[in-house]
Amino acid sequence: MFSRRQFLGTSLAAPLLSASPRFRFRSDFWINLHHFVRAEARRRMLGATRALPSLEDSVLETYERHARASLIFDKELVALKDALVEGSRPSQALQRAADVYRDQIWPSQDRENRFWIERVEPSVARDSPRVMKQLGSAYGAKWLKGAILVDVCPDTGPTLAYTTGRPRGTAGHVVIDPGRCAELDVAFEIVFHEASHTVDDQIVAALNGVAARVGRKAPEDLWHAIIFHTAGFAASRARPRPDFVPYARRFNIHPQFWRALDDHWQPWLEGKISRGEALEGLVRAAYAGLRGTPLLRLEGKEYIVQDGDVLVIRHG
Ligand SMILES: [Zn+2]
Repeated sequence: MFSRRQFLGTSLAAPLLSASPRFRFRSDFWINLHHFVRAEARRRMLGATRALPSLEDSVLETYERHARASLIFDKELVALKDALVEGSRPSQALQRAADVYRDQIWPSQDRENRFWIERVEPSVARDSPRVMKQLGSAYGAKWLKGAILVDVCPDTGPTLAYTTGRPRGTAGHVVIDPGRCAELDVAFEIVFHEASHTVDDQIVAALNGVAARVGRKAPEDLWHAIIFHTAGFAASRARPRPDFVPYARRFNIHPQFWRALDDHWQPWLEGKISRGEALEGLVRAAYAGLRGTPLLRLEGKEYIVQDGDVLVIRHG
């Protein structure tokens, strides 16, 4: 059986493992279970090997539609997660899954999460006042009041981490995979990348404003390429070593915008031109990099939507 005391004991009332002014890191049972059940439902749907075969099928069935949905863009799935952050009673399905998960998965997962926090948190706490200031002025954005909650948890979908909304009492909620962010440099950069997402609406608005002034539409994803570039640059400054390569450059993310970013955004980061000039140059130059980039791909009916996909449904 499940008592209120039990879930409070592992949710909001759980002692935070660490606290820095800007970030609160934690390893939370229900958030981890929620993501685990979704991932397990997805494995079942795809016929992949399950991580916890003793988990009841009826639990996984209730998560089937969440398994198809995007962790970032599906409002219902985000609301479900945010309710857990805010301390609401977990669903019946999660409560039914809790015992077997607590028994077989959680002890080692919690250990991995806490180990990650112990390694990453000190450098984030040390550098965050400076890096957050740099990022805020680079974007021309105002950080939201309060701390960004960072839940350490695997099963974040196709991305290493994701950030959504603003559950009560937070300035944004990041979920980050300790396995795929095991490398300290990657973890450090991704924490600040995800923090940038808490103000991405301001970045998009600034970009669209400049684009409208020059009579163009800002290319799709350019705002995200700006975040990758800026957080990568700030991380490389904070962790000065010759072999530091920002994540996007290492893993070939948004390469169509690299040239434009290097020519127009980087000079702003180095204080050589104004942000207005940088944004205008960037919008104009970004189109040059887009030629030859595939925008649409055809998939069959049985295709399972990936996080980040934008769908165009063909009728008839
Ligand atoms: Zn991102």
